[in-house]
Amino acid sequence: MTYFKTFAYSKRQNIYSVVLFIGALLLISCLGGCTRDTAPQKKAAITILCTTQMIAEPVRLLAPPGVEVDHLMGSGVDPHLYKPTPEDLRKILRADLVLYHGLHLEGRMAEMLSQMSVDEPGGKAVAICSKIPQESLLVDESGATDPHLWLDVQLWKQVCDQLKLTLITHGGFNTEDISARHQSLSQSLDSLDNDVSQLLNQISKDRRILVTAHDAFAYFGQRYGFEVHGIQGISTESEPSLLRVNQLVKLLSDHKIPAIFVESTVPERNVRALIEGCKRLGHELKVGGKLYSDAPGPEESGAGSWSKMVLHNAKTIVEGLR
Ligand SMILES: [Zn+2]
Repeated sequence: MTYFKTFAYSKRQNIYSVVLFIGALLLISCLGGCTRDTAPQKKAAITILCTTQMIAEPVRLLAPPGVEVDHLMGSGVDPHLYKPTPEDLRKILRADLVLYHGLHLEGRMAEMLSQMSVDEPGGKAVAICSKIPQESLLVDESGATDPHLWLDVQLWKQVCDQLKLTLITHGGFNTEDISARHQSLSQSLDSLDNDVSQLLNQISKDRRILVTAHDAFAYFGQRYGFEVHGIQGISTESEPSLLRVNQLVKLLSDHKIPAIFVESTVPERNVRALIEGCKRLGHELKVGGKLYSDAPGPEESGAGSWSKMVLHNAKTIVEGLR
C-alpha cells in the first residue's frame, strides 16, 4: 500500500513535471513567435567613430548624451596620406558605427572601410559624403571627385542631413530626438554660412582670386564667389609641375593679387616658388597667412574645430586680399 501510494505520488509528480515542461516550451515558442511578429528593435550605437574632426563635430551635436563619439585624425593631420595605427584599428573594431567621408579622402583607409560597409552583412561603416548627389559634386580634369565638401558651409549642411538619416537608420537612435538636434544644428550652420559670406563680401570682385597650396577650396570658391587655384592637385600626394607654377606666377602678377596662402597640412616650399617667380616679374607677393583646409588646427590657433576653421579661413582671406 505504501509502495502503491508512493508510486502513485511519484507518477503524479512526473505528470506535473511533464505538464510544466511542455508549458514552458509553449511559453518559449509563443515568446519566440511574438518577437518574430514585430520588427526587432535595433540596439542604439554606444560608440561612434568618425575618421575626421569635420565629421565628428556635427555627430557630437546630433548624438544623444551618453554616446561616445571619437575621431581618428587629430589637428594638422593630412587625411589624403593618413595611415591607420594599430590603436586606430582597435577603435574601428570596437565601434558600433564608423562614419567616414568617402570620395577617396581617406586614401589609405578607403578600401578597408568600404569592405566594412553597412550594405555588407554585419557591416558598420558609412561613407557619408558618397550620399551627396553627384550633381552637387565637383570633379577635376582627371575626373576625380573633389572630397573637400566641408569648406562650403551649405554643402556641409547637406552632409549633416545625411548624418541625421544615418544616425536614425544605422545608429538605432530615436527619430524625434535626432531630428530636434538636427534642426538646431541646421540653424547654427545657416548662421555660420551667413557670417562667412558677410566677411568675404569685404573683398572686391577683381581681387577674388584665391591661390593656395593644394586644390582644397573649389567648393569654397563656388559657394562664396572666388576663382580658386591650387599649386598641387586635389590630393596632397601629387607634386606641382613647373608649367603650373609658371602659369600661376603670370596670373598673380597680371591681376596684382597681393597674397597667396599656405595650408596647415601641406609643405610651404611650393608657395615659396610662386613668391620668387612673381618677384622676378616685379610683383610683390606675400603669404597671406595659414588656411586650415583638411583638418582643424590646435586650440590656440583659433581654428581648433571645423566651424572655427571655416571662420578663421574667411578672416585670413579677407586680411590677405582686401
Ligand atoms: Zn585635401
